[in-house]
Amino acid sequence: MSVGKTLIVVGAGASGCMAAIAAARENPKLRVVLIDGNDQIGRKILATGNGRCNYTNEHQHPSCYHSDDPDGMWGVYQQFPVEETIGFFESLGILPVERNGYVYPMSNQAASVRRALELELQRLEVTLKLNCRVKGIACAEQGFVVTTTEGELRADACILTTGGKAAPNTGSDGSGFSFGERLGHTLIRPYPSLVPLGCIKHPFKEAAGVRVQARVSTQTMDGKDCSDVGELQITKQGISGIPVFQISGAVAEALAMGNKPMVSIDFLPTMERSAFHGFVEGRLALGYTKPEEVFFGCLPKALIDCVFSGDAPTSVDGYWQALHEITVGISQTMGFGAAQTTGGGISMKEISCETMESRIHQGLYFAGEVLHVDGICGGYNLQWAWSSGYVAGSHAAKELL
Ligand SMILES: Cc1cc2nc3c(=O)[nH]c(=O)nc-3n(C[C@H](O)[C@H](O)[C@H](O)COP(=O)(O)OP(=O)(O)OC[C@H]3O[C@@H](n4cnc5c(N)ncnc54)[C@H](O)[C@@H]3O)c2cc1C
Repeated sequence: MSVGKTLIVVGAGASGCMAAIAAARENPKLRVVLIDGNDQIGRKILATGNGRCNYTNEHQHPSCYHSDDPDGMWGVYQQFPVEETIGFFESLGILPVERNGYVYPMSNQAASVRRALELELQRLEVTLKLNCRVKGIACAEQGFVVTTTEGELRADACILTTGGKAAPNTGSDGSGFSFGERLGHTLIRPYPSLVPLGCIKHPFKEAAGVRVQARVSTQTMDGKDCSDVGELQITKQGISGIPVFQISGAVAEALAMGNKPMVSIDFLPTMERSAFHGFVEGRLALGYTKPEEVFFGCLPKALIDCVFSGDAPTSVDGYWQALHEITVGISQTMGFGAAQTTGGGISMKEISCETMESRIHQGLYFAGEVLHVDGICGGYNLQWAWSSGYVAGSHAAKELL
């Protein structure tokens, strides 16, 4: 019997709310306490998907995630996959709308996802402790002692869902990493991911503000090609936009290892070489020899001016190289403040992928971004939060039956 037993969930973001709901549904006699330093649950959820919350993606594959235990991570996902996620939110009143696989709430408002979780937590009588920061978690003879700004709390089991270090203004300052380390877990050095990049001798600085379709490519630490096509944004410091986010984890990992990563940019990704040759030769034949006169219909003027700021190429191949094979050195990522997620984190190798329980301490569970799992852009990071939160919450509650 779980009468009198307490489960504490530290962090009321996406994974913590899901863990608390799954636990309370699984074991109605359990006292579930959800703690957060903010004055509201799910603060980061409000910022997701540009305020619309891209809460999952219909196209799921192990290659959409990055972890030190890819098979284990995928096993967790499969216990609560995208279909379950959509069904879960439908049961909370969130109807899905899908665009190219990306799933949003029909309301188009992230606030409705947050509200759905809030109503369900209330319905299940989960105890919410807001404006309450956790300062430490220690193992006791039985269970855990959680030290908070409001005093000490005792728990029979504890789920750490404190997030990573991305967007620390939403409450996730990385404190969960130190709790995990102090409890004997290995921390894989965290780095910002899904983040804009800063360029060395930024070649397109004068085109800051321009948005253009492009392919960006780099190499991962294990030498694999990694590229994406989409809307590239030129910023004052470098490059941003979804295709840049998609390769930013590989770049950030290289920077963290002290390497000097390079990114290749193709500003006309849909134009085949033969079509390009025909087009440029046609313009040159009409006597248009200035790059702006050749490409004004293909690219924004500010970008053409940057790319061809020196002498114009003397051959069609020279034009091809200038627009399709540009290589820029990356000096830095724009940091955790500008990142959407965290690469690295508590090693998944020390977590049971059946239950999300620590292999080091019985009764201690982890879920969400605090772990070494990060997804590509497009709903995958929230899917990881839902899947891992669900598995942690339901198993922790079963253990306390
Ligand atoms: C701008 C932005 C847009 C994004 N858009 C998307 C998107 O559209 N789709 C997608 O899939 N992903 C998106 N993401 C990523 C996604 O939001 C996160 O990966 C996900 O929310 C992580 O959930 P989490 O519960 O693990 O951590 P968090 O959401 O970070 O929650 C952790 C919680 O723990 C609390 N906390 C931390 N430490 C303590 C402590 N010591 N004491 C008490 N409380 C503590 C924090 O206050 C916070 O509420 C976006 C992220 C950002 C920043």
